[in-house]
Amino acid sequence: MTRTVDVVVIGAGVAGLSTALGLAATRDVLLLSAGDGSTPWAQGGVSAAYGEDDPLDHARDTDIAGAGFCDLRNVRALVEEGPQRLAELIAQGARFDRDDDGSLSRTLEGGHGRSRIVHAGGDATGAEVHRALRSALQLTGVQTMDGRTIGLIKSDSGRIVGVLVETGTEITRIDARAVVLATGGVGNAYLASTNPPTVRGDGIALALRAGASVVDMEFVQFHPTALFTGETGGQLPLVTEAVRGEGAVLRDMHGRRIMAGRHPRADLAPRDVVAREVEATMRRDGSDHVWLDATSIAPDVLRQRFPTVLASCARIGVDLLSEQIPVAPAEHFLCGGIRTDRDGATDVPGLYAVGEVAATGVHGANRLASNSLLEGLVFGRRVATALTLDLPATDHGHSHELALNHDREPERVRAILTKYAGIRRDGAGLNAAADELEPLGTGPLATVARSVIAAATTRQDSRGCHWRSDYPHSDERWDEHIVVRLDKDDRPTTRQLLHATTQ
Ligand SMILES: Cc1cc2nc3c(=O)[nH]c(=O)nc-3n(C[C@H](O)[C@H](O)[C@H](O)COP(=O)(O)OP(=O)(O)OC[C@H]3O[C@@H](n4cnc5c(N)ncnc54)[C@H](O)[C@@H]3O)c2cc1C
Repeated sequence: MTRTVDVVVIGAGVAGLSTALGLAATRDVLLLSAGDGSTPWAQGGVSAAYGEDDPLDHARDTDIAGAGFCDLRNVRALVEEGPQRLAELIAQGARFDRDDDGSLSRTLEGGHGRSRIVHAGGDATGAEVHRALRSALQLTGVQTMDGRTIGLIKSDSGRIVGVLVETGTEITRIDARAVVLATGGVGNAYLASTNPPTVRGDGIALALRAGASVVDMEFVQFHPTALFTGETGGQLPLVTEAVRGEGAVLRDMHGRRIMAGRHPRADLAPRDVVAREVEATMRRDGSDHVWLDATSIAPDVLRQRFPTVLASCARIGVDLLSEQIPVAPAEHFLCGGIRTDRDGATDVPGLYAVGEVAATGVHGANRLASNSLLEGLVFGRRVATALTLDLPATDHGHSHELALNHDREPERVRAILTKYAGIRRDGAGLNAAADELEPLGTGPLATVARSVIAAATTRQDSRGCHWRSDYPHSDERWDEHIVVRLDKDDRPTTRQLLHATTQ
């Protein structure tokens, strides 16, 4: 079966929904989804600098958290266009929490110099953003379809002209003038992640297979405080950083504060710093978790602000109001991804990427908290604007299908990536990972894992969320981005690209 539309958007999270909404009035759009991604799970909020806050302060905090490795022009687009996108979301019906005087409540999270995180339902921001965007989409003529995209179609002239979608036992071919990948991160390539199972790096594998470049794949962010449930794999509940924003502190097995004296912002240091300290504490104490102590926060505040976290804690029999809760780091967010310009264009004509799967450089080497829902809103609109202004012409030439191979041993791939490309890495481990991945085929998970390993092996310094114990310092000789592409045998090759410092 074959269908034809102007634009196929793959992924129905904040990025895909924003893109589809922005195109609804001008283009014939089909939105594909393999189920809910990370968006409805987002807790803490959306960052936005408005009023007495200055977008340039937000940009500065973003670049500091990103270890000075951000694309500053794109960061400016993020922070300057963000408040407008947020206002439109509110106009579309999103209900954010408000103070008694009616103004939006704003809280603090790690790495932010001031309270600029707006939230909904206390700690259920993603669910509200998702609900509002989906409701708005229902009022448009955008068609939707459930199914997993398993391949892209490329014309002989090198343009992406469609997709292959698996629905049950059927495979549908959809021809399009442009394809937008909005497939989220790579959480399910690791054993334990805060991401749901649908988020497994398919977009990265599809883009690589189509000949596109991915970049900054070594910068995989680990959240320092996933709830330690005793499970060693699957999706772990998150304890949002906003709990620390309200005053909670991390403690080791002996009750000592972990972050005191380790960073000027202590428990609200950027995520990579906190995750590394937590990992080092666990290693030193031989424990599989540390403690988060929120008992100094008034119970009413905890009940009102963190109903989701309270419920997760209750499910494992701990009470956030009166006792310390067990937490441990888990894979959380991919800072790198498919290399795009500010309007989502990849280096393959007809192929675009947006949201967590894309790398515009706004996260640098480490994402600032609550910047990624904002990224989806801002860059989703930018891609839609670009494709409204200028949609590639239909390519009537011959084409060929680039279907993904099957992963033969997903659990093995996950175990290897988790063991060797977690918070702490070293050359010997990364080489072992490459060897162990070698016989495991060229399915999407194996391709994602190889890309992370290749980038992490190449980068011989430490910065942001890439930390190598054999090269523990940041080295300006590595002020270069690692770009990964696939060779003719579908194996990653890397090249280095100088980091642009222009604003
Ligand atoms: C627990 C948690 C808490 C978070 N808290 C915050 C927060 O407070 N603030 C913040 O800014 N960010 C937060 N984040 C990060 C943020 O939620 C994500 O980065 C963001 O939602 C990603 O949006 P996205 O649209 O790019 O992808 P996603 O929302 O992950 O959506 C991906 C979509 O792609 C689809 N898909 C994937 N592969 C295929 C395929 N092969 N075929 C078809 N469809 C496919 C999925 O089905 C899904 O619809 C959090 C993340 C998690 C997991």
